[in-house]
Amino acid sequence: MESLEYLVPVFGSTILGLIGSIIGKHKGRTGAGFLFGALLGPIGWMVIWLGPNMRSRKCPFCAEWVQPDARVCKHCRRDIVPGAPSRASAASGPTAAPPTVDGTIQQYERWKKSKGW
Ligand SMILES: [Zn+2]
Repeated sequence: MESLEYLVPVFGSTILGLIGSIIGKHKGRTGAGFLFGALLGPIGWMVIWLGPNMRSRKCPFCAEWVQPDARVCKHCRRDIVPGAPSRASAASGPTAAPPTVDGTIQQYERWKKSKGW
């Protein structure tokens, strides 16, 4: 069975990655969870577990994380629109500022088109 020994780390990291992806799934980060789990094992799980939840969003009033379907912020009790991405709402419309470094190329292309370039 000596010839199969090289498979152990490969198999092991796949298992670690799968567990990481299960943890990441709850946070909307399945791919990242797999990667971190496969590379770092239990430390990677911790990173994903403690990391930001991509499925939740920030309250526009108090900047605390809330559930994506929440209508009322559990922290400041103000009304928020469910399902609306908190980041994009400010950057839409014809008067939107040009995209910054974290804007995607797609957004940039759309912005260029809206300016008639
Ligand atoms: Zn709030």
